[in-house]
Amino acid sequence: MQELNDLWNIILEKLELSVSNVSFVMWIKPLKIIDYTEDKKLILSTKSTFAKNQILRGYFDKLKNISKEVLGENLEDIEILDPQEEEEYVKKNSPKTKISETTNQKNPFDPEFTFDNFVVGKCNQYVYAASRAVAENPGKKYNPLFIYGGVGLGKTHLLHSIGNYIREYKPNLKIKYVTCEQFTNDYIESLSSASKTKSNSEFRNKYRNLDVLMVDDIQFISKKTSTQEEFFHTFNELQQNGKQIIISSDRPPKEIETLEDRLRSRFTMGLIQDLQSPDFETRVAILRKKCQLEKYQVDEEVITYIAEKIDSNIRELKGMLTKVYFLSNLIGKKSADINDAREAFSDKYEEKNEGASTADQIIDAVCNYFDVSKRDITGKKKNKEIVEPRMIAIYLINEMLEMPLVSIGKLFGGRDHTTIMHARDKITLEIKTSKKIKTFISEIKQMLKSV
Ligand code: ADP
Ligand code: MG
Repeated sequence: MQELNDLWNIILEKLELSVSNVSFVMWIKPLKIIDYTEDKKLILSTKSTFAKNQILRGYFDKLKNISKEVLGENLEDIEILDPQEEEEYVKKNSPKTKISETTNQKNPFDPEFTFDNFVVGKCNQYVYAASRAVAENPGKKYNPLFIYGGVGLGKTHLLHSIGNYIREYKPNLKIKYVTCEQFTNDYIESLSSASKTKSNSEFRNKYRNLDVLMVDDIQFISKKTSTQEEFFHTFNELQQNGKQIIISSDRPPKEIETLEDRLRSRFTMGLIQDLQSPDFETRVAILRKKCQLEKYQVDEEVITYIAEKIDSNIRELKGMLTKVYFLSNLIGKKSADINDAREAFSDKYEEKNEGASTADQIIDAVCNYFDVSKRDITGKKKNKEIVEPRMIAIYLINEMLEMPLVSIGKLFGGRDHTTIMHARDKITLEIKTSKKIKTFISEIKQMLKSV
């Protein structure tokens, strides 16, 4: 069922574009496929009942619509299970299509994410070399190893590759991979449990008796001092004992605003490496590799066509190849050709344009909503009544139009791109913590829909 997995990745990719960054990481991404039944029902599991309710309340329609778009007639319904329901389901049904190997407790690493499957090019050769060195000699060379780079450029793939390598060649080492959320949740849970001292020492045992600790997407670290403090001590203890720490982030330590200085300086003690967008040759090589691994029959022309059109996000690049292959497969062609590729892309652009707003419309909507003037919102005033709408407008333009930060800066009186990034990040965080901001955003989006 590798195919369903690929299609699921396409669904995720689309959802990623249509919900906020934080919601995606918190609720959508952790969903796991448990089963795909004979009557075309997709059974998904969540990490908690809370997460299940959150999805049902806020994202279920979107999830279902996008899944229908991608799976077409192959989907009748979607069901979401919380952990207990999942256990019961698995007991009762022993699902035939146990798809997600990552749910396998024994190996938390995706078997597809290996060094062998990672295509090396100019954009990633140093990070690759550093990751291999760390996998071969954990704790000896670069500690911590800090990998950063934009969405879909291979951070998680590299972390899992290190994990898979160590499991194979050094099976005695204790290794743990967590996302920043998992770390935070684990820690919070240890605090709220009935027997505090016991569960706190359990937490410490779990995180401090390791040979290798990997934390993915550290940019989501919360401002809460206690979490950062715990992480700081974990970090120190591991490092002092020569244990390896590997961290990933979408930006370098100095740009993670929520990060305390002492952690920031710890992160800078080892090696910091960035992943850049792949050049054309690397994109072609990645697509060829995928064809080879999945046994896709695809015309050479299709490969170059896709590689020319998608130039930054590798997840999107691979997703598009799968989509093209599927379109051709659906109508029984032996090999996907350029027409299938064109068709796959025409969908993509239609979707984007449908109901899309312009930056001006977004600014107008925000001005109307908060009853402020366009001149103020794009101008220099610093009072709260203006600053908050301004940041929300910036956030919305970035999220809905994926407009580069520099261009957004120009719309707002020539502001610097770091100022724009700050505004965007602030709102991204606030959506998570403030109901008020969340409501603002969803109401403005609603307004824009009816434009
Ligand atoms: P990130 O964690 O940086 O957002 P991922 O590691 O999840 O990105 O990568 C996104 C997708 O792109 C995955 O399917 C991954 O296998 C693929 N990918 C990224 N870089 C490479 C590469 N150099 N070679 C092959 N596949 C890659
Ligand atoms: Mg990742």
